[in-house]
Amino acid sequence: MITLQHYINGQRRESRSGRFNEVRNPATGQLSAQVALASAEELNEAVAAAKAAFPAWSATTPLRRARVLSRFKELLEQNAERLATIISAEHGKVHSDAMGEVVRGLEVVEFACGAPHLLKGEVTENIGSHIDSHAMRQALGVVAGITPFNFPAMVALWMFPVALACGNTFVLKPSERDPSAALLLAELLTEAGLPEGVFNVVNGDKEAVDAILAHPDVQAVSFVGSTPIARYIYATGAANGKRVQALGGAKNHMVVMPDADLDKAVDALMGAAYGAAGERCMAISVAVAVGDATADALIERLAPRVRALQIGPGSDPQAEMGPLISREHLERVRGYVDVGVEEGATLVVDGRDFRMQQPGYENGFYLGGSLFDDVAAHMRIYQEEIFGPVLGVVRVQSYQEAVALINAHQYANGTAIFTRDGDSARMFGHEIQVGMVGINVPIPVPMAFHSFGGWKNSLFGDHHMHGPEGVRFYTRLKTITSRWMSGIRTGADFVMPTMK
Ligand code: NAD
Repeated sequence: MITLQHYINGQRRESRSGRFNEVRNPATGQLSAQVALASAEELNEAVAAAKAAFPAWSATTPLRRARVLSRFKELLEQNAERLATIISAEHGKVHSDAMGEVVRGLEVVEFACGAPHLLKGEVTENIGSHIDSHAMRQALGVVAGITPFNFPAMVALWMFPVALACGNTFVLKPSERDPSAALLLAELLTEAGLPEGVFNVVNGDKEAVDAILAHPDVQAVSFVGSTPIARYIYATGAANGKRVQALGGAKNHMVVMPDADLDKAVDALMGAAYGAAGERCMAISVAVAVGDATADALIERLAPRVRALQIGPGSDPQAEMGPLISREHLERVRGYVDVGVEEGATLVVDGRDFRMQQPGYENGFYLGGSLFDDVAAHMRIYQEEIFGPVLGVVRVQSYQEAVALINAHQYANGTAIFTRDGDSARMFGHEIQVGMVGINVPIPVPMAFHSFGGWKNSLFGDHHMHGPEGVRFYTRLKTITSRWMSGIRTGADFVMPTMK
């Protein structure tokens, strides 16, 4: 049995807690490893290592920090296939999708390599007579990241490259369901020349998270996960005086206007709803069809495509959709399909009874794609995040009704509109109350040099992740006002100095 340990002070550290979590390969259902779950004491050791590393790392010039990140970027590129294979084996997503995750994470490293530019401050000369003012951003100290299972590499990479570039030291607590990617990232950072203790990985569960939230030396916490936990992290961290950004769950709508290119809209919905088995915080789980004719045409085109989804293990190059993360999660998603039927939505495609035939994969956590029509706003399958391969179509009669529906939802992570009409698209961008908006783009994940984040119950805190918002989150502002009395410039003084 492989035991996945912690990574503290530039090396693997064996856990003493005696507590473990099973790590399974979702494609086969088999146990692949156990991961150590840290005690509070072990978490404290990682924070102590990060605290000890902070003075030297924050004093390292931004250019030298960027050079370490640049070497890390090269190593990440060289190890991309290996990392994607690890992700796929523990998460279940297909290899090409795992490679996509690595690339999107790599882009944040590229952004962070611009640290010297990102950390330039502001200067105003002569704010008063002989007085200048300059503002600069300084590192916070030890910062922590807590990440979800669904992007075991990318979400961590949203956080630590920017934090490190700004001069902070980092403690990462990955998901206990797929922790191996984080350990590889730690090793690559060490190989890239990152000094010991600057980046640490502590595997664990609530005990480690609570120790992070309580630790007086942790200055800031970045969290990504489900909304109830995000709310808890934000409230507890903020009450303990920490800076917190806590990204939560989602229910993303895609509006299909009557004038949309329906073939393009259906392609977009297939990838956005069923890619990664719907386990993406930017997955589209609701299609809002404007007009019954649009809805009928959508259902007609979607149903055969959902039935024909190629489901298989991540290692199968033909597979479009892999398994879900765990047996429990599979049962939960299946339960939501039951709920939708009970609530009166029309189940057009039923994925509940899908059975994997490929030898060796019969016990994997596979579920077929499901498609609902006639989903209504009061239903649980509309209100709650399902996080599985289930798409619901809501029928509305106008653009205004679509906007009102989306704006009334508790979640506001991402949304999209498909239309050929510039005015509808422009108004949608203006009036929709959602953090990330796509116009004929189904999954509008901002690039690394912009920032990622939702509104309402999809994000607690003031800052989005990476991009300029990430730099602001991981630094604090200092403004210096300075006056220099006239000195040597006025010439030598040969007279005994007296007060003037
Ligand atoms: P989760 O909330 O169960 O776990 C996230 C992290 O919190 C993990 O590291 C876990 O160990 C820790 N955790 C779990 N229970 C805890 C508790 N009681 N106290 C303290 N810490 C706890 O989320 P998940 O199932 O791993 O990930 C899926 C969720 O993440 C979905 O809701 C998805 O929408 C969300 N997500 C959001 C974004 C975003 O950008 N908004 C991105 C990815 C995932």
